[in-house]
Amino acid sequence: MRVVSGMRPTGKLHLGHYFGVIRNWVELQREHQTFFFIADWHALTTAYKRTSDLQRNIREVMIDWLALGLDPERGYLFIQSKVKEHAELHLLFSMITPKSWLEWNPTYKDMKFNLLRLQDVALQFRGGLRDVVREFMNMIPYRVEDFERLEERLLDDLSDTFIAALFEGELEPELLKELNVSRRDFYDTDTYGFLGYPVLQAADILIYKGEGVPVGEDQLPHIELTREIARRFNNLYGDVFPEPSALLTETPKVPGTDGRKMSKSYNNAIFFADTREEVERKVMGMFTDPQKLRRNDPGRPNICAVFTYHRLFTGDREKVDQIEKDCRAGKLGCVECKRMVIESLESFLSPFRERRDEVKKDLRKVEEIFQEGSLRARNFALETMEEVRSAMNLK
Ligand code: SF4
Repeated sequence: MRVVSGMRPTGKLHLGHYFGVIRNWVELQREHQTFFFIADWHALTTAYKRTSDLQRNIREVMIDWLALGLDPERGYLFIQSKVKEHAELHLLFSMITPKSWLEWNPTYKDMKFNLLRLQDVALQFRGGLRDVVREFMNMIPYRVEDFERLEERLLDDLSDTFIAALFEGELEPELLKELNVSRRDFYDTDTYGFLGYPVLQAADILIYKGEGVPVGEDQLPHIELTREIARRFNNLYGDVFPEPSALLTETPKVPGTDGRKMSKSYNNAIFFADTREEVERKVMGMFTDPQKLRRNDPGRPNICAVFTYHRLFTGDREKVDQIEKDCRAGKLGCVECKRMVIESLESFLSPFRERRDEVKKDLRKVEEIFQEGSLRARNFALETMEEVRSAMNLK
C-alpha cells in the first residue's frame, strides 16, 4: 500500500508527537511505500502572520524525525513546499470543489467558533476597559464637547489594541489562562487559505496516489473530502486517482505536565531535546491528585498524569501495579513517585537524545537527506501531473 502523511513544522517534537504519530509512521515504513512530508505550507494556513521561526522549526522537525527512527532509505522524507506541484494540483482541485464541502468541514467550523469566542472575550474585556476609560476621561482638565463620543472612540481603540495583542500572541500566559483562551485561538482563520486547506491536503495525498492515510478520528472528515474530490475528478476527466482510506490507529493519550493534552502552546510538553535537568524540573512541577496533600493521604492514580507516565514508561508491570496500590493506600509520596517516573522517562528518552545529538552534528547531511527526498518525491509528483494535465486537456 502507498501511505502518505504530513506534519506541520511546529518545532521540536515532544512525547505526544511520538506516541500520536511518529511511532506509527516508523511501523508503516517497515511494510509499505511511505511518503512523509513536513507540511510547511499548511503551517501558513493558520500561523501566517509570524514566519520568522518557520525555517528553524522545519530544521528541528527534520532532526527529530531522523533521531526517532524515520528512515530515508525506506521511504520518502521531504518538504511540501519543495514540490511545487502540490500547489498546482491544489489549484486545479479548487476549481472542482464546491465551497459548501469546505464550509461544512468540522475543523473549519471549530476554528470559526474559536474566532467568535475570541471576539466575545474581547467584548468582555471591553466592559472592563470602560471603567478605565471613564477614570481617564474624568482626569481630563478641560471640557470635552462630546464626552460619550470620545469615550466610545477611546474604547474602540483600546479594544482593537487588545484584539491585536491577542492575535500577535503578546499577552502574558497568566492572563490567557484567566481568560480561558489558548494560543491556538489566536489564529485569524478568516482567510481563503484556511477555508481551502483540506483541498491542499487532498492534493498532498493524491499527487502520490496515496491509498492509505494514517489519521486520528478528528481527521476522518478530511479524508472523506479527499475521497470526494478524487471521485469528482475521476468522474469529470477519467480515472486518475485512487480513493484513499483512512488508517485509523489506536494511540495512547499522553497528558502534558498539567494533565491537559500535551501541546507546545500549553507549555506542558516534554521534548526529545530536553536535557535530564529539564525533564526533572518539568516532572517535579507536575500536577498530581489535588486531594493527596501529604504522603499518607490516599491518592487516585487514575486521575494523575504522573501515573499515566508510569503506565507508558515504567516497563516493569509489577512495579506499576505496586505504585498504584501504594498510592491508593497512602504508602507512597508524590515526590518519591515522581523521582521514579523521572528514571523511567530517562531510560526511554536518553537513547533518542543521544541519537538526536548525533544527527545534529551534521546538519548539512540532514538538509541533503530532505533535499534528496524532495527531489525523489517531485519526480513522482511530476508523473501524476502529466496524467492530470492530459486528462484535463491542459497540454
Ligand atoms: S503517588 Fe504518584 S500516582 Fe499517586 S497521586 Fe502522587 S504522583 Fe500521582
